Amino acid sequence: MAIVLQQKPIEILHSVFGYSSFRDKQAEIIDHIINGQDALILMPTGGGKSLCYQIPALCLPGVAVIVSPLIALMQDQVESMKQLGIRASVLNSTLSSSESSKVEEKMRNGELDIVYVSPERLNTESFLDNIEQCELSLFAIDEAHCVSQWGHDFRPEYTEFSKLKERFPSIPRIALTATADELTRQDIVKHLGLENGRIFISSFDRPNINYRIMAKDNEKKQLLTFLNDEHKGDSGIVYCISRNKVMEVAKYLKEHGYNAWPYHAGLNKDKRTKNQDRFIKDEGIVMVATIAFGMGINKPDVRFVAHLDLPKSVESYYQETGRAGRDGLPSDAWMVYGIEDIVKLQQFIVRSNADKEHKMLEYQKLDALIGYVETVRCRRQVLLEYFGEKSEAKGCDNCDTCLEPVKTFDGTVAVQKALSCIFRTGQMFGITHIINILLGKEDEKVKRFNHNNLSTFGIGKEYDKSQWKSVFRQIIASGTAVVDMESYGAVKLSANSNKILRGEEKIYLRSDVMDRKSKKEKKVAAGKRSVLTNTEDEALFQKLKAFRLSLAQEQKIPPFIIFHDSTLIEMVNKKPENLEEFGCISGVGKNKLDRYGKSFLEIIKESN
Ligand code: ADP
Ligand code: ZN
Repeated sequence: MAIVLQQKPIEILHSVFGYSSFRDKQAEIIDHIINGQDALILMPTGGGKSLCYQIPALCLPGVAVIVSPLIALMQDQVESMKQLGIRASVLNSTLSSSESSKVEEKMRNGELDIVYVSPERLNTESFLDNIEQCELSLFAIDEAHCVSQWGHDFRPEYTEFSKLKERFPSIPRIALTATADELTRQDIVKHLGLENGRIFISSFDRPNINYRIMAKDNEKKQLLTFLNDEHKGDSGIVYCISRNKVMEVAKYLKEHGYNAWPYHAGLNKDKRTKNQDRFIKDEGIVMVATIAFGMGINKPDVRFVAHLDLPKSVESYYQETGRAGRDGLPSDAWMVYGIEDIVKLQQFIVRSNADKEHKMLEYQKLDALIGYVETVRCRRQVLLEYFGEKSEAKGCDNCDTCLEPVKTFDGTVAVQKALSCIFRTGQMFGITHIINILLGKEDEKVKRFNHNNLSTFGIGKEYDKSQWKSVFRQIIASGTAVVDMESYGAVKLSANSNKILRGEEKIYLRSDVMDRKSKKEKKVAAGKRSVLTNTEDEALFQKLKAFRLSLAQEQKIPPFIIFHDSTLIEMVNKKPENLEEFGCISGVGKNKLDRYGKSFLEIIKESN
């Protein structure tokens, strides 16, 4: 007998999960599934997808089969279930054949509520034969975008899941994903046979994430200031474009007192696993990584995601930054970028082996990304519109452009100087060289080409190198000039250049690097955004965290599986005095109350 069989969804939400109410479309989705219907669920990361199949799995008789490509994650998911008193297990290649047989037997005997299986396993005849002998409650297909070739994580195994419909026509199938554009969506419906199901789409907004993007101007120092001011002791991810840079930045942060570790595909597997494990199981780790890191990381308390280089597209940016703040607490998506980043990404596209059509698509994606980073509008609105969501007229009040309207200045003269310098040198040179001429630097190359004799030599001394880089970045971003990748990154005039050169049109630029003084003022305004207001509360929070860590280490599980930060924070704020009050805290279900209530109450009592 399943412990919570035949209960109503809301009762299970209260008693097993310890949550007070359903979020957004959860209740509707769960009802739909309990009625035996199929569904495709699109929800952002951290939206609460898992509950949409976990609760029906507990309401309906039989065992639920959950397919996920993220094998590394399955054990954590099963641990989370067990902590809640749910009978769960995995079936994947990490199990020996006798262990697998035992799990399959339990499934047949109705001794499991939920089984997580790998896609390979689900496709085997023997597994399908076995589940034919089981009572099944539902199939859930996680990361369903993997079925589509349009998506970024295509897995051929996924296309075979169409078998499920033929073989188990009466068992509800639920596909879930956090990333699916229209084409991918159609693919999911087609390949998984969900034509008769319903599509549930939630807003992709992540209101707790603060978006902030700045001009690159000594990136390591900028990162350090950001961490020192706002994220001491927090867990977070720093994304870099190359392996070398990952190593360098990790070392730099370590030297400055951070518990920082590198992660990239060039490290051997043991080292990668070890560093990833640290990130998940310890507190306050900064993971410096290439994009090789992140897939399948479900750590809920990642407080910041920092980019030291531009991601590839808006989609990648959204996915990478989405790893922050799954627990709903305030978190930061912070990025610095400069002209080099744009040029580098353009180079990648030109040098790739893709066909022309594909390259055009990549260019469009890069343009959209540049549009996003350079925008003076609310960043959240630009992001949501990119994903096809209408946004409200007013801004979000939780992004840099909303909180501090972008300062601009009339940059016409500066741009004219830059453009004429490009013109006078024959549109054959890269940005660094042009800047040297503007600054009047007589280096070897300038002398070799006699560029010290040009009328534009030294006409830009009012700005320094990084300020000129900011000007060029904006010139390129706005298409006022273009970088020609076919000729080694030479900057060329574009159709838009003439109007500005002739003075027929003005151009306004962001002050970013121009205005260093105002940046200092900003620094004072920034500070750690804490949800706890006084030092005693902060101290109690740290005590509860330390105790949680010791419990987690004993059981060899990540701390967040015991309680989320948000649950600890509520303990601090409400200071429950007895088990009854403790049980009312969000995230404390019956099982966790029995198991941990007493010891946590003692710590809370001591601090009073
Ligand atoms: P997703 O799979 O969509 O990324 P999860 O299912 O992991 O998101 O949910 C994100 C977090 O929100 C989890 O910690 C989950 O326990 C919590 N959560 C989900 N639904 C609710 C709810 N109704 N009330 C409170 N917390 C919830
Ligand atoms: Zn905004």
